[in-house]
Amino acid sequence: MPTEARFKRVLVANRGEIAVRIIRACHQLGLETVAIYSSADKGALHTLLATHCLCIGPAAAKDSYLNINAILEAAKLTAADAIHPGYGFLAERAGFARAVTEAGLVFLGPDADTIATMGDKVSAIKSIKAVGIPTLPGSDGALNDDMNAVEALATDIGYPVLIKASAGGGGRGMRRVDSADELASAIALTRSEALAAFGDNTVYLEKFLTHPRHIEFQMLADGEAALCLGERDCSAQRRHQKLIEEAPALGIAREKIREMADICEAACRRLGYRGVGTFEFLYQDGAFFFIEMNTRIQVEHTVTEMVTGLDLIAWQLKVALGHPLPPRPQVQGHAIECRINAEAPQSQLPSPGVITQLRVPGGPGVRWDSYLFPGAMVPAFYDSLIGKLICHGVTREEATARLRQALTELEIQGIAINKSLHLQLIACDAFQPWQRDIHFVDALSAPGV
Ligand code: ADP
Repeated sequence: MPTEARFKRVLVANRGEIAVRIIRACHQLGLETVAIYSSADKGALHTLLATHCLCIGPAAAKDSYLNINAILEAAKLTAADAIHPGYGFLAERAGFARAVTEAGLVFLGPDADTIATMGDKVSAIKSIKAVGIPTLPGSDGALNDDMNAVEALATDIGYPVLIKASAGGGGRGMRRVDSADELASAIALTRSEALAAFGDNTVYLEKFLTHPRHIEFQMLADGEAALCLGERDCSAQRRHQKLIEEAPALGIAREKIREMADICEAACRRLGYRGVGTFEFLYQDGAFFFIEMNTRIQVEHTVTEMVTGLDLIAWQLKVALGHPLPPRPQVQGHAIECRINAEAPQSQLPSPGVITQLRVPGGPGVRWDSYLFPGAMVPAFYDSLIGKLICHGVTREEATARLRQALTELEIQGIAINKSLHLQLIACDAFQPWQRDIHFVDALSAPGV
């Protein structure tokens, strides 16, 4: 059993639905909470639910939710002894994990070195390959200026190839290349975009898969033992950003999934991984290829919760408190999540505003994770995710039917939401797991379709 530091008061270094979710889990475990907020989030649900709350700065994220000094100062002022980073903001900044630990607090995530290795895609692929996880054919390292060698490699792998920024994230920093004459300019463009967006122009090359599914494995580990809590299918993406996720992933042989789960567990043990984490893969023609590891709780952890009956945030906290891992859960039924965003249906531009009316769905197998209430403000400054609608059923058909009804019932006024897109997606033929690939949503919205 690991000898972790104990803690009693958790500062939640985040906002929105995930801050609410973490606060609920802490309270259920008898832990106190500290909510931090920017001036744009005054009166937000997470601040109302927490034991203590503190304004840490103005609306701009760089001055509040990304301001490490202000967050550590808030922890000191409120005598918090642990920090939960949630997802986004500082969750995968190694420097933040290090600063938290150096301040004598428990960081609820893996150690800073692991975050740094996995946060840089080139070093992540190297370390993942070393622990036996299959990767895509590619440059296996950063590209240098030797264009002859890069061209030879691309020809060898076969077009199309993908140029990716090592520091990329959020579906940004990648460019498909279909022939040798586009290669040099694609590398130059991706480099300059990566430098502007991530402050790092390191790029690498890998095979572009034309019709893969995005399948990921949820891990929970304590530095020694590791447990795979099953897989999720996140192929419903728009411009490489996830929209709908589900568990389990149907249409893939269960033996193949079990084999990958074993490989992921062995990899966690060899890495000495601690906390929750996700190995992301592309799956095409019967084979899995690693694309990246997320060293934090993910938005879509909820579908795994619905089919395993485990509270992943509670387990994240319990493992950090020194509890042994739970027994291997049985996967029961099927769960699907729709990400509800505040966005205009046509332009897809963010739609901030005050919630004037709210009607949330209910009934068996229906879960609504959100920070909204009538009168709540959806600020313009942050991610447009305002809630997650998750439905569970004995079968995928039942989960989908519940989702259709729940989406129909959901009514939010004061802002625009992407409800019609979700209703359209779950109704289309390509939504069937065995028919789809990661391009199906973009293909549906392509002109003329
Ligand atoms: P990010 O960190 O930006 O999320 P990922 O490496 O996880 O980047 O990739 C995001 C998405 O981009 C994947 O889910 C997939 O849709 C697409 N993608 C990434 N790599 C490839 C590839 N080699 N071939 C085809 N699509 C890819």
